Parts: sequence; structure tokens; C-alpha cells
Amino acid sequence: MSPYPWLDSRWAELAAQRENSPHALLIHGPLGVGKLALARRFAQLILCETATVSSPCGHCEGCRWFAWLPAPGLPPDRTGSAGCPRRARRRCSRPSKAAKPSFEIKVEQVRELAGFLNIGSHRARRRVAVFHPAENMNSNSANALLKSLEEPASGACFILISNKPQRLLATVRSRCVSLPIGMPMASVTRDWLRSEKVEDAEDWLAYAGGAPLLARSLADSTRGGRIRQLTALLRANDRDGLLAWNATDREDIEMLAEVLQKWACDQALLSFSGKSLYFNKISQGNGGRSARDWLRFAREAGQFRRAARHPLNPKLFAAEIIGAMPRV
Ligand SMILES: [Zn+2]
Repeated sequence: MSPYPWLDSRWAELAAQRENSPHALLIHGPLGVGKLALARRFAQLILCETATVSSPCGHCEGCRWFAWLPAPGLPPDRTGSAGCPRRARRRCSRPSKAAKPSFEIKVEQVRELAGFLNIGSHRARRRVAVFHPAENMNSNSANALLKSLEEPASGACFILISNKPQRLLATVRSRCVSLPIGMPMASVTRDWLRSEKVEDAEDWLAYAGGAPLLARSLADSTRGGRIRQLTALLRANDRDGLLAWNATDREDIEMLAEVLQKWACDQALLSFSGKSLYFNKISQGNGGRSARDWLRFAREAGQFRRAARHPLNPKLFAAEIIGAMPRV
């Protein structure tokens, strides 16, 4: 069984390669469809000493080592490697509150990993390195990884996970076996979200563009609550309320830009087709504004989203993006 029902066929493909897995695998597809869960389960299957055909046992020493790996959701600089309990435990240590998580996979981390993979394997078992998200490598770390991919250590398996594989070095991509994960069928994800007892599942699934894990995490998070606040202000056409919305950091700004971009896309779509994509049950509130105005603003909001990653004054930035929104 795969971690999620829409990944069953992909899991069957992977599990069949357990004994002869490629030395490098690139799992790619949209955010929130289960790529990391699939990679982790495959890594555990490779390391498991008493696995059945397609499932890790969960009890052997290999599985116990696996349990020391960082949990999904930790900052992306927690590149995971498996095969040595002491090292794995050290990697699991959580950063102090004062430490800011890095969004980059650094060359030192890749070199350290290469050194580790080249040391003789304990218990003659396989070794697995998971890069998530792989596009967070800079050019130095990508080139360091390329060396390891060109001359892989015996028994090593690299699993790269990416939402944006086009940002990876072409030479890195070409050395990996590609495993694309598409957006699952809406009927399957709806049933799954229902079984998970997710509130307002249809609304979150729409907002997440059909990605079930993203929908579930939004429905049950502070971030989701903030998105609800912004959506309510947009539905009420409350521009003053939007300006007063308390954006305190770059994550808030990125979220604001994302909500406004999706809102603008939906306003344009409503003009064209009478249907929306990201927000259910919204009416056309364009006040005579053309689809072209909303599309122009959607593009601007996209630029704001990218710029939000750089240091900035959140309040000024929020005022600027809201000021650029078409007035209705
Ligand atoms: Zn096991």
C-alpha cells in the first residue's frame, strides 16, 4: 500500500525496484500531492531488513534508524540521510528558537553527505539520501551533488524531490530516473479528504488547486485561518480591512500576494466563463473592471510573490500590492 490512495500505482512501480533501484531518482510534480511521503516510504523500504514485497516491516533495525530521520515539515535545510543512527540522530536535533531556518541546501551539506556515503556501510546495507526540495540547491551544491551522481558510492541511492524540476541543473536531471507525480483525480481526493474529516474540504481543495495534502494542511492550520480572513475581506470588498490586515513577516506577504493573485485569476475567469477556479461560490465583484485589468493585476501579484522572499518592510509591501489591485 502507498501512503495515499492516489499514489498506489506509483508505489507499485517503486516497490518493484526495491532490489535494483536506480542510484538516483527524481520525484517531481505539484506541491501537496505526496512526493515526500512517497520518497520517505521508498527510502524505508530500501533500508528495511525484513520487508515484505512492498511494505517496510516497521520493526527491524533499518526501520528504527529510519525513525530518526527528520519529520516532514522541518525546514528544507534538514537534508536527510539514512544509514547511521548516530549521524541521523544528530541531524534530527531541532534548531534553537533563535536560529533562522535556511531555505538553501548548502554545498557543505552535500559534501558532508558525500563523505558519509563513501564510508563503508554499516551492516553492509544500502544508504539513502533525500533532497527536499532539490531546487533549493545553489549552483555550488548542485555541482557537488553532480560529482556524487557521476561516481555514486556503492549501495547509495539519491532521491531528489522537486516542485520545480526545471530549476535543477540539466546535468543533474539527466542522471536521475524521472518519476512524475500528477495532480490526482478530484473524485479520489474528495473521498480521501472526507475520510480525513477535513472541514470545508471542497473549498480548500479548490484553493489548493486540487492538491489534497496541501488542502488538508491548510484546513487545519494558522495559515489557513489567515487565508480565511483575507478571503472574507475580499468577498466584502473591504479594501480598508485589507490595508489594516496585520502582515508581519515575509510569509504573511507571500500569502497575501498568493490570495490576491488567485482572487484576480478567478475574477478574470468569471468574466470569461462564469466559473471560478480557486474560490467556490464567489460572485463577479469586478465593478465594471475588465478581465484584462484583473489579469494584469494577477501578473503583478505573481511578481510580488517572488519579491516577497527578499528582505522588505512587510507593511509597506502590503500597502503597495493592495494599492495595485483594481478598484471596484
Ligand atoms: Zn524493517
